Amino acid sequence: MENQYFQNEYQSIFSSLDRRAAGRIYKRDIIQVMEENGVLLEGLRIQQKLDEYTSEQPIQFFEFIEIIQKNMTLFKKAARGELVLKNFNSFSKKVSQIYEDTMQINSGAVASYIPELKRVNPNEYAVSICSIDSQQIHLGSVDTPFCIQSTCKPINYCLAVDEHTSDYVHQYVGREPSGRGFNELTLNSEGLPHNPMINSGGIMSCSLIQPQLSVNERVAYVLSKWESLSGGFFPGLNQAVYLSEKETADRNFALGYMMKEKKAFPKNVNLEDVLDFYFQSCAIEQTTKRLSVVAATLANSGVCPITGNRVLESSTVKNCLSLMLSCGMYDYSGEFAFNVGLPAKSGVSGVLMVVIPNVMGLAIWSPRLDLLGNSVRGVSFCKQLIENFNFHIYDSLLSQDPKYDPRRPQNEKKVNGVRKLFEAVRNGNINEIRQLSSQGIDLNSKNYDFRTAVHIAATENQVEVLQYFIEHSVVLTTKDRWGNTPLDDAKRNHNEDAVKLLLTFD
Ligand code: GLN
Repeated sequence: MENQYFQNEYQSIFSSLDRRAAGRIYKRDIIQVMEENGVLLEGLRIQQKLDEYTSEQPIQFFEFIEIIQKNMTLFKKAARGELVLKNFNSFSKKVSQIYEDTMQINSGAVASYIPELKRVNPNEYAVSICSIDSQQIHLGSVDTPFCIQSTCKPINYCLAVDEHTSDYVHQYVGREPSGRGFNELTLNSEGLPHNPMINSGGIMSCSLIQPQLSVNERVAYVLSKWESLSGGFFPGLNQAVYLSEKETADRNFALGYMMKEKKAFPKNVNLEDVLDFYFQSCAIEQTTKRLSVVAATLANSGVCPITGNRVLESSTVKNCLSLMLSCGMYDYSGEFAFNVGLPAKSGVSGVLMVVIPNVMGLAIWSPRLDLLGNSVRGVSFCKQLIENFNFHIYDSLLSQDPKYDPRRPQNEKKVNGVRKLFEAVRNGNINEIRQLSSQGIDLNSKNYDFRTAVHIAATENQVEVLQYFIEHSVVLTTKDRWGNTPLDDAKRNHNEDAVKLLLTFD
């Protein structure tokens, strides 16, 4: 039974790709389904299987199943238009336009307090998006590596919470925005870092991760977590930036000693080791292409959308996103939460990681920073995104929201309306037909077989409904895909009353 259902399900998908109903499709048909929906084949098992076929080689049903086997659910969702971003093309066009617009902004300055960071090209600009169904958009220098800097903080926080518990971790770090610069010499009233998203809190998270291991082993552990979070890419570590930061790290040492003096750290912590571990975490390299997958893993409550593997506990991710929303953008966090309404984390390399829970992750990289240390283009990109799409966490409260929701098919309202209309006709429910009409559903609407509500009424012998249609001047003589009028349908079904009524208008 189960098997039969499975067969039918995939048979319909196969048939929808089989243009001439010839029992065969081609490689390009499969590729097209994925590309139109923004799913990159690169790295997917489907791609490996497809490589075994030439473009002219026909693919039969059983071969089709073999090809899609390892990415079956993903392919099925793509073919049926069930991936989270429904209107991928128009969404992607708008995103490209926002990218082009924000590219024109040249204000701000590259961070220079870590000398090595100055060497970057200030004009770099990359935007990558990855949905929780691994639909992707990549614009600009998306393969150029940069240091993640402060974007290591949410991940290190998650690793500390997963290793211990939230309660344990928060014995050592607060949850309140500081309202101050990211590296200001300040602690909360208990002598603890205000939150894990600023430097003091970032250093504290490092003191909690695998404390029994050596610094090198701890770094290797964190790198392997980044590998899993980004879908299987082991990251690099920029030695020059690491050494440069270490040499000029008086402020972070000062923060460390301040916390040590307040006895804020767990017992037996070696401060030099912790800071060394922290500097190396900041020097981890990512590209926006990979970082968008990390952000998507957070959006997907800790499960990497590319591999399907759980990397972080969902409760940990929930806590992390709450803190990113309130504290992720330094002393601009309140403004960002107000205007953009999304959890995000920025870093002084000009990176911005943004999470839209249950939808997608974004990674933006543009090195010129504003006075608070956030990427100028990055912030502007997010604002424009939110002006166009209803991604702000509270946008759902606006009933008359003119913003576009890419999670819904563009014509969803109309399609559902027509479906309801046909159902109401079938049931002879004139009251509902009237309601649908007053909601703006066109009584002359056709379905994919060009059949109208009148066809349905004629077939079902719903005479009162036909009467209603006549009174409301609905067209009675439309031909469906097979050339049949409603009168033909009524005759074929021996619906005498309907025939009589329709004949008078023939
Ligand atoms: N490594 C940087 C520092 O500790 C990270 C700060 C940041 O990105 N905001 O100063």
